[in-house]
Amino acid sequence: MPGKVNPEIVRSADSLRNHRSVHSESARTSGLSPSLLPNTSSNRDGLRKNKPLRIMKFGGTSVGDASCIQRVVEIIRAASRESDIVVVISAMSGVTNKLLEAAVQSEAGNREAIARIFTELRKRHDAAVSALIESDTKRNRIGQQMQELFREGERLCEGTMLLGELTPRARDGISSLGERLSAPLLAAVLDESGLPSQCVEATELVVTDSYHGGAEPWMDLTRERSIARLQPLIQQGIVPVVTGFIGATEDGVLTTLGRGGSDYSATILGTALDADEVIIWTDVDGLLTADPRLVPDACLISEISYREAAELAYFGAKVLHPKTLQPVMQQGIPLRIRNTFAPEKLGTKITPAGCANAGGVTALAAVIDAAMITVGGPGLVGVQDVLGRTFATTTAARADVLLISQSSSQNDICLVVSSAHAKRTLEALRHEFSHDLAHEKAEHIALDPTVAILTIVGQKVRGMAGIAGRIFATLGRENVDVIAIAHGASASNLSLVVARKDVKAALVAAHREFQLGVLASAMFPVDSDRPVAWVYESERTGSDAD
Ligand code: ADP
Ligand code: ASP
Ligand code: MG
Repeated sequence: MPGKVNPEIVRSADSLRNHRSVHSESARTSGLSPSLLPNTSSNRDGLRKNKPLRIMKFGGTSVGDASCIQRVVEIIRAASRESDIVVVISAMSGVTNKLLEAAVQSEAGNREAIARIFTELRKRHDAAVSALIESDTKRNRIGQQMQELFREGERLCEGTMLLGELTPRARDGISSLGERLSAPLLAAVLDESGLPSQCVEATELVVTDSYHGGAEPWMDLTRERSIARLQPLIQQGIVPVVTGFIGATEDGVLTTLGRGGSDYSATILGTALDADEVIIWTDVDGLLTADPRLVPDACLISEISYREAAELAYFGAKVLHPKTLQPVMQQGIPLRIRNTFAPEKLGTKITPAGCANAGGVTALAAVIDAAMITVGGPGLVGVQDVLGRTFATTTAARADVLLISQSSSQNDICLVVSSAHAKRTLEALRHEFSHDLAHEKAEHIALDPTVAILTIVGQKVRGMAGIAGRIFATLGRENVDVIAIAHGASASNLSLVVARKDVKAALVAAHREFQLGVLASAMFPVDSDRPVAWVYESERTGSDAD
């Protein structure tokens, strides 16, 4: 009868819920249908929640070896006392690079190199299994599962060698093995530690288009499949460990989301499941005022807006995949970046409004591997719609155009793309304009592969007088030539193209000029004595300074 709740069902569900928080293992085996559980919290998108839901993504360095994985297990166990958890995991650090090397060696027919790589990867994973899993039965089971995955990888390499061609689909198949190995390993270790856990391949959850190497999610289908597959696990107190980086087309062909894509996997799932928070666990304290490898004085930012974080990610802050913010922004789900190796620290919180910095500038980022393409010159004078055709071409080539600058006539355009996209963008543009340029001797579509982009990010970068002047003066003092500039399109960034050899000096000087080290550290008190669980408790009750 509509509106009436069967008290028997509520009692059963309540007892299951109470049971779960104390003895999750028995809840898992109780046999009670999870569909009986009532919907106790807001339920916009259909996932029934009893506790806050957190998506926790662990990057490659966080699962680099057995001792790192042990830390990860402790973090998940502490968090699971207060939240339902879905884990998203990357490959062990360096593994994806090795697999891609194997893929390239396959195309070249280099059998020995492939064998060497697989031997090395087997050893590394075997060592982690031996160190982390005590039960012989479980060790054998996971060992066999891994052997099957390695054999699958070897078969893909074999096929590539036979063809003499590395197809995008085979490349995705080979490069995705790292996550497919680390996820069952972590799930087995969690399970052995007493926290019921199950590996779930993202091919079952994340539905994407068929663009291999940079696939885009289809959110409606992803939401449907993620809820259907993960809700029963969550409700039985089982922690799903999902392979990051990977998706599949609607008919099940494996795709990858692009390098560093596990961050994106986490926010895709966070949005699909309407999570209360997504946490990216990594090897630094959070989002810093600049890349610490280039600016040693870089400091932690305690809170930042979606918009600023998205700009930093897009313009090279490797700690976040460029598209990480896209899914969560629409739903307003908070994102946090935290340090696996210092879990007592609260990290960076990314929220809709952020926390405006009085100086106007919040952080700097740089795309080091960039290339500048210029389209223009006398050969193109009189050619119709150069701008429109240029954009249509870069879109068709799936090139991420990081920056554009245009002269007073539309016949001189410069665009900057990442080095990885430079060759195919150049070829596509030359092809598009080949007819117009056929009668010209001079080269009108040219490539400079030695540039970098330096980006200044802050909520008031456009509104605040003098920021552009200060950066030009600072770079002038360092003898850094500004090749191109983009300012004004976004309220919160200003991007400058400089020679790659100058970018480190430019970043260090700009960081000093805007006093980013001083401001950020003053904003963020850290108490390194706090245990992991304390941090979660304080966050829940809202009693922390942050
Ligand atoms: P994970 O393996 O956890 O995904 P990544 O190597 O992809 O980690 O990203 C973390 C790294 O990003 C840090 O070690 C740091 O060197 C680099 N990085 C670049 N820019 C920033 C920034 N602004 N803040 C924090 N880290 C940054
Ligand atoms: N393992 C993948 C990579 O190295 C994805 C990730 O780490 O996020 O690119
Ligand atoms: Mg990463």
